Amino acid sequence: MTATSTLVADTSTPAAFDPSNVPGYAEARTWLSRQPKMLLIGGEWRPSLSGETFETFDPSTEQPLTVLARGRAADVDLAVKAARRAFEAKSWGGASPHDRTNALLKIADLVERNAAELAVIETLDNGTPLSNSTAWVASAVRALRYYAGWPTKILGTTNPSGPDTLIYMLREPMGVCGLINPWNAPLTMAVNKIAPALACGNTVVMKPAELTSLTALRLCKLIEEADVLPPGVINIVTGAGSDAGSAIAEHPGVDKVAFTGSTGVGKRIMQAATGNLKKVTLELGGKSPNIIFPDADLDAAIAAAVGGFCKNSGQICSAGTRLFVHESLHDEVSERVSRIAANYKVGAPLAPGTQMGPVISKAQMDSVLSYIDIGREERARLVLGGGRLGETGYFVQPTVFDRVTNEMRIAQEEIFGPVLSVIPFHDEDDAVFQSNDSPYGLAAAVWTRDVSRAHRVARALQAGRVWINTYATVDPSMSMGGYKQSGIGREMGAESIDAYTQTKSVFMKL
Ligand code: NAP
Ligand code: MG
Repeated sequence: MTATSTLVADTSTPAAFDPSNVPGYAEARTWLSRQPKMLLIGGEWRPSLSGETFETFDPSTEQPLTVLARGRAADVDLAVKAARRAFEAKSWGGASPHDRTNALLKIADLVERNAAELAVIETLDNGTPLSNSTAWVASAVRALRYYAGWPTKILGTTNPSGPDTLIYMLREPMGVCGLINPWNAPLTMAVNKIAPALACGNTVVMKPAELTSLTALRLCKLIEEADVLPPGVINIVTGAGSDAGSAIAEHPGVDKVAFTGSTGVGKRIMQAATGNLKKVTLELGGKSPNIIFPDADLDAAIAAAVGGFCKNSGQICSAGTRLFVHESLHDEVSERVSRIAANYKVGAPLAPGTQMGPVISKAQMDSVLSYIDIGREERARLVLGGGRLGETGYFVQPTVFDRVTNEMRIAQEEIFGPVLSVIPFHDEDDAVFQSNDSPYGLAAAVWTRDVSRAHRVARALQAGRVWINTYATVDPSMSMGGYKQSGIGREMGAESIDAYTQTKSVFMKL
């Protein structure tokens, strides 16, 4: 194939789709149409101190959805004080661990009962297909139940000590945790931080992304309905990162900041946190390698490779955007991946069968399209897509470049859109070398039927998470986080318990 025979992605999905019969749609619209969404501070919903608001949009139609409160530093200050009071009162952190388990289980039940509405709100706000947002809500419920099991298992230790001494270690909450999240998987991110933070007895101030604050707000409303948290344990301040976000990162009353987002902003968070030496966890960007060896189950590997860069329009931190293929198979795999992606149903995210929606914003679309231009200029071979789809909504065609070299910018920089780089390799060492030749190290995958090779390569890859013969399958028990510039610390699994607690060792002379 040459650039002139570039495939064009399927455009047949009707742009106009009447979603009124979609389960949860009526409920979602009712909630959206109620009064402007407010900040939750100290158990009360209130407007921002300045009275300012902002609109949030549906990226598939470019139409406004609702109005939110624009919180700023002064609002963050109130929220941190409320969280501090709630923490000091020990009504949550000091509660019986069984009570904390029951509270999280009750929240999980409420989220599950409202799953259809939450999925629709997520899809309207973020543009991800309903099948995807539905799966995200299910995974949020799973994470809530997983962390509900933890409070009774957060153990200290008794240390070996001499006959007249007793040494033991207590594991205690951090205190007030500032949670800052990106727009790409809003409810999942909110729950993945809130659930372990609460399980460990902390109080929280959360700032969702300005572009997608809705499901985090709806979650807080459900938590309020569950009536299981004392006021001030959970606070939410919507607003801009440069303002509300940086106020959380700088605030001397915040003990820990958990940030998920870009590597650039992550570095700023870390600097801002130095004022009071906050504990910091950073879940940052990625450019994950997905390696196909010649002995792999090619049908499975190729299908997963398509999801690896198209799911959520490629806006996933662990998207498999560098597809390393043995040189003997490069052209075949590239063509088969492109043919499947060419038939992807791109369109109205609430419509049944839609596989890919828009990217989040015009700015994101422009950025993705500029990377596609860069790929052309770098003389990678464009085999699929390469442009915008339609004129309304921020739709980008699934786009595949092959014969990419790992030094090209499209292989080194996070594009965060549905753009794949297919890169040939010679042998196992070369595949590992090229995979690791990246400033990032978030996730990686290897496809092979050779068991020894699978584990050898898994060990050699510099990534916080490695999949073998699958891509992007997740479980709340499985930690994630970055090698190199993909982050600091780990989230999920038992590692979130470590991240939201601190230890105290006690020495007693008997
Ligand atoms: P981003 O621009 O870094 O923003 C992330 C969050 O930080 C948003 O809430 C943002 O607020 C806020 N923010 C921006 N500037 C800030 C500042 N100076 N101080 C404090 N907060 C600030 O990231 P994004 O574009 O939303 O998300 C995409 C990125 O997230 C990608 O790089 C992706 O790889 C990464 N990500 C990583 C993981 C992971 O687990 N490792 C998961 C998902 C996404 P506003 O947007 O409201 O202004
Ligand atoms: Mg939106």
